[in-house]
Amino acid sequence: ETQKTVKIIEQTEKFGAHNYHPLPIVIEKAEGVWVHDPENNKYMDMLSAYSAVNQGHRHPKIIEALKRQADKVTLTSRAFHNDQLGPWYEKICKLTNKNMALPMNTGAEAVETAIKAARRWAYDVKGVAENQAQIIACVGNFHGRTMTAVSLSSEAEYQRGFGPMLPGLQTIPYGDLEALKAAITPNTAAFLIEPIQGEAGIVLPPEGFLKAAADLCKEHNVLFIADEIQVGLARTGKMFACDWEGVEPDMLILGKALGGGVFPISCVVANEDILSVFNPGSHGSTFGGNPLACAVSLAALEVIEDEELPARSLELGSYFKQKLQSLSNPVIKEVRGRGLFIGVELHEEARPYCEKLKDQGLLCKETHSTVIRFAPPLTISKEELDWAIERIEKVFAE
Ligand code: PLP
Repeated sequence: ETQKTVKIIEQTEKFGAHNYHPLPIVIEKAEGVWVHDPENNKYMDMLSAYSAVNQGHRHPKIIEALKRQADKVTLTSRAFHNDQLGPWYEKICKLTNKNMALPMNTGAEAVETAIKAARRWAYDVKGVAENQAQIIACVGNFHGRTMTAVSLSSEAEYQRGFGPMLPGLQTIPYGDLEALKAAITPNTAAFLIEPIQGEAGIVLPPEGFLKAAADLCKEHNVLFIADEIQVGLARTGKMFACDWEGVEPDMLILGKALGGGVFPISCVVANEDILSVFNPGSHGSTFGGNPLACAVSLAALEVIEDEELPARSLELGSYFKQKLQSLSNPVIKEVRGRGLFIGVELHEEARPYCEKLKDQGLLCKETHSTVIRFAPPLTISKEELDWAIERIEKVFAE
């Protein structure tokens, strides 16, 4: 009986803007790594909502925090203080080893915030002449869908029909230190980078690049901004992907798993010398820092720490990667990634493989047409991972 699934998909396609191309499955409920459709077929989630569900679906501690806070107060706006924001500020600052944070709601908004901070810092602190600040980003980046984020993009389809693009932005090839060196001028405010590119297809920079780039930025008084929205908070086997090279970014952008897949919250964290460029009236968001988001986020961060998700991701990820690397199908070009953030690049379109995996009960999504991303919730057990591996082996044996 697939009637309900068919009806919902028809309704979605009929009334919704077609800005996504989802696999033909409707999720009605979820728990941990498992999701169910209306016909009660069970699937394992191997995408984790692009790393927003690192803690697993509906983690009981996060849901409890949501319910507890929902019974007290959900929104105050920032016209007044709320009792959850202070504790959340302290928690996120301790976790990132910074002393100032600014909460927003979605990832793209946090990127906007970081760009605004960097520009104002360039004028007020670095002394760049008015409207001359430059931001350097990387080819293949994905920082969201706002006008700033798409202006940063090197993907024609992300920009087509949306012009004019924002000025003051440029890109260099990902991982190219010489190009970064050549691009930096006295007007450069910041270098914005994903420590591993997610949407580009799980692309890792050359070993040592992050460290060298951070050092170069320091030397030239340029802010090194890490977009850790997708790869931060335990996903790659460390708390932050920059930890792989011992890099402390000047500004960190977080989102997704910051709300445990339960409630949207994002933020920028940095030190006071940077974030104090904001004064009342210069930036804000009605929902930014709301008590419901903060309560959920506090619980979401506690789960990451209490359940040692960075270590779990590291251990299970290296086991999983090794299993994927031992698949002998010639269609596989490369298996790469860190922790439970693994891309399998094929010599052909990945979508048909995602469809076959779905028929086996595994939900994966292709990224950049030839890469399958495997990124299960980090709470996945070894047994559940073995269940998945068995099915992946079957699909690639065919
Ligand atoms: N930055 C990175 C690295 C991302 O992966 C994403 C989302 O995939 C974003 C920013 C945008 O986040 P959001 O979709 O919450 O706006």
